Amino acid sequence: MNNTQSQVYDVVIMGAGIAGVSQARHLLLNIPNIKVALVDPRPEERTEKDLKVGESTVEISTLFFGKELGLYDYLIENHPPKYGLNFHWPKETENTETIDDYHHIWCTRQPSLASTLMNRAKFERDVLKMNKQMGASFYNGRVVDVDLTSGDALNTVKVKLDEGYLELKAKHVVDAAGRKFIIGRKVDNVIFDSEDLYDVNNGSAWVRVKNVDRTIFHSGYDPLGATCSHYYATNHMMGHGHWVWIIPTDSQTMELSIGVAHHHQVIPAQSVNTKEKFYAFLEANHNLVYQLLKSGEDIDFHYLPRLAHKSKTLFSQDNWYVVGDAAAIFDPFYSLGMVMMTFGIESITEIVRAKLADEPDVERKRTVYNAFNIGTIRSSNHLIHAHDRQLGHASIMSWRIYLENMWWFGIIVPMYVGKWHLDLKFLRKFGQQGRHIITSLMTDVYEQCDQLIEKKANIGLMYTHRADQLPFHYYVTRDFDTYLQDSKYEPQRSNVFAYVKNTYFFVALWYLKFLWKGFGISGLLSPRNLYHVFKLLKASAESALDELIFKFKTRGLPANSIVAKARQEFESYEYQPELQPWTKNVAEQSLQSNGKNAPKAPELVNLKAEIHS
Ligand SMILES: Cc1cc2nc3c(=O)[nH]c(=O)nc-3n(C[C@H](O)[C@H](O)[C@H](O)COP(=O)(O)OP(=O)(O)OC[C@H]3O[C@@H](n4cnc5c(N)ncnc54)[C@H](O)[C@@H]3O)c2cc1C
Repeated sequence: MNNTQSQVYDVVIMGAGIAGVSQARHLLLNIPNIKVALVDPRPEERTEKDLKVGESTVEISTLFFGKELGLYDYLIENHPPKYGLNFHWPKETENTETIDDYHHIWCTRQPSLASTLMNRAKFERDVLKMNKQMGASFYNGRVVDVDLTSGDALNTVKVKLDEGYLELKAKHVVDAAGRKFIIGRKVDNVIFDSEDLYDVNNGSAWVRVKNVDRTIFHSGYDPLGATCSHYYATNHMMGHGHWVWIIPTDSQTMELSIGVAHHHQVIPAQSVNTKEKFYAFLEANHNLVYQLLKSGEDIDFHYLPRLAHKSKTLFSQDNWYVVGDAAAIFDPFYSLGMVMMTFGIESITEIVRAKLADEPDVERKRTVYNAFNIGTIRSSNHLIHAHDRQLGHASIMSWRIYLENMWWFGIIVPMYVGKWHLDLKFLRKFGQQGRHIITSLMTDVYEQCDQLIEKKANIGLMYTHRADQLPFHYYVTRDFDTYLQDSKYEPQRSNVFAYVKNTYFFVALWYLKFLWKGFGISGLLSPRNLYHVFKLLKASAESALDELIFKFKTRGLPANSIVAKARQEFESYEYQPELQPWTKNVAEQSLQSNGKNAPKAPELVNLKAEIHS
């Protein structure tokens, strides 16, 4: 092939990692006849050894893969299920040999929305194949340059193939090439400085092992504690300035991904950046994990000295887009990498769809989606703030995790299920509230957590999924609308306002309890703290009004129009106590296959029989 060859597409996606293949499938499923090209230097037939980190999905990323990409069956057949997120803190840092040496927050039952422990290599290989079957072109080559033009002129992606060069032209170019930052470096779009990342300054080491003896972690017998597996979960072993993940990625080969996210302020890179040092770190600080590792066979080791970065722009007016690791990643603590990716992919598809359809509000969509996704990225970044100081404190972290889960299950998940993240009006309002209420409250809470750690306070352990810690039997996954029970999966059908209202209200209660336990009466009466409570209650009241307006606007609308149609069809249902005759067909087939020697057809019976009550 020579460098004069060029091809034109609607969208060229640089990188066929999880973000690239998922973006392609989402575009193909949502925009009929779209022409999509994917480019990646890794061959299509990736081996199981072509390992990638990023295995734990959460409610939103699983819904994206299962519901939006139609891969539920595929996930069940190929990737282990995940039973929640468990946290463990050593009771004494020098004794970490068994699971009983830790304080725990176990997930006690299967959460109502499933998640998955994903084998990334398998997923990327399989979805790339599916994309090709759906008509996408795959170029096994490396993007060496991209010419970005302004406005709607075609962009050019230059690809080096084994046998020469190729130019791919498209109006829309998506950078999904991970940390290569093809567009990021071109247009100076990436922020790496920890001062601009809420002081997050972290790295990560991880290994894969197979054929482990999982009973070293847990015997699996906990009849009085839980109705779900403890091993098939994401398990976080917590400690000062770090946390260690244990993620099973294959139930046949008993494969595990085990890694540490560490903060350089506490654990410098040079103390964990080789396999030997990482193993020694585990042996000393989480001996149980070390034993688990040693029970299996090593597959690989990786070290990433710098985890966190973010992008200034995600969806440019010049029709370039960044998604996945190319856009942002901070720390996999809550597995939000693929959540940010989900929001990004769905926004990009909607912008490209509206652009191809010449819709008048496309640029408004681009601006609002860009702001919303930047806000989501900012919040994901903020969630890691002060981890260097707080991760090892079981009491403080348990309160923090509880609060962060209130936002997640209370607002973000229902918002995603109801597709409110694509609704311009909702996003504008929610974006403002988010900045003014949530970020400012969380900033103060994190500072107060620091103060409590300074005082060596123990304000008890908050159990994320228990319903006996806040008034009114509140728990973080509580339903305030029938959005799951009545399958309100169509856009803007679920009553997200009920969730916003209740979440603000219960966060106010959480905050009052936190202040009381941590700071007593002076904490409760501090004007700044009272101001937060007031703002939360005010926002809750405003959302109550939004809820009423929403109910009025949607009165008479079915919760789910597919169910409504099925019910309508069912109105003409009549019971038919009869069967269609089949023995004649068997006899005929038998006659055809055996010719003259066929046995005589059995006497046909009329199977129409009245059934009397
Ligand atoms: C330690 C760690 C743990 C994580 N754990 C989780 C988790 O549990 N859950 C979660 O949701 N997220 C997690 N993440 C985040 C997760 O890694 C990302 O969400 C995900 O990997 C993003 O995938 P990607 O496709 O953007 O990037 P990649 O997986 O890096 O894919 C990029 C692709 O681009 C290709 N490429 C590179 N250069 C070029 C080029 N020049 N031309 C064309 N193609 C190119 C590469 O070959 C590759 O296939 C974790 C991240 C880290 C660092």
